Amino acid sequence: MSNRPRGLLFIVSAPSGTGKTTLVERLVQIMPNLRMSRSYTSRPMRHGERNGVDYNFISRGEFQDMIQAARLLEWADVFGSYYGTAADDVERLIADGQDVVLVIDVQGARQIKAHGVDHTSIFVLPPSFDVLEQRLRGRSKDSEDAMQCRLAAARSEASSYVDYNYVVVNDELESTVVRLQEIIAAERSRTHRMTPMAEAIIKSFEK
Ligand code: 5GP
Repeated sequence: MSNRPRGLLFIVSAPSGTGKTTLVERLVQIMPNLRMSRSYTSRPMRHGERNGVDYNFISRGEFQDMIQAARLLEWADVFGSYYGTAADDVERLIADGQDVVLVIDVQGARQIKAHGVDHTSIFVLPPSFDVLEQRLRGRSKDSEDAMQCRLAAARSEASSYVDYNYVVVNDELESTVVRLQEIIAAERSRTHRMTPMAEAIIKSFEK
């Protein structure tokens, strides 16, 4: 455990196909002291994914055990599979002074808000529905039925942006990453978060 002040919690949500995971992976590469939390999921591993890297892949039974044991900060059933964030993983990082970003769906974000956990939420929108559909169709091997299901979910999720503290439009990767970086830097600089450092500086004026 370090003497650093506690880290901050950020939530990033977006309809699937918006590119949020790519954005946040890039963000944590370039921002010191920002870590992405690794979720648990019961969905089958996709080609190219790695257990313990992309997700912690567990069975439905193991996931239900985590729910029962109250080990999850938030969880949701998304497209028929469970997804969730382990409370102790996040607490360990935050207690160590690291800022943590959760890439989670709108149901999970609602739970964190309802539990009164201090956080900053960011919603990522695609430039348009057509762009989203092109991206989803480009990367997916889903059946047409599954695609329609994802598109319908995207339509209903997009209007949830109103519940978030910030909204960014992912029109171009690098400039969107810069906007996310600016939001995080601004949140770190809020007066109540800067008070311990500011007070130490003010004290040095009293010589
Ligand atoms: P995918 O299966 O495409 O990786 O993710 C499907 C959806 O689940 C995405 O919207 C993603 O943000 C969401 N998701 C991933 N991890 C979590 C989590 O830990 N909690 C919640 N609530 N949603 C998650």
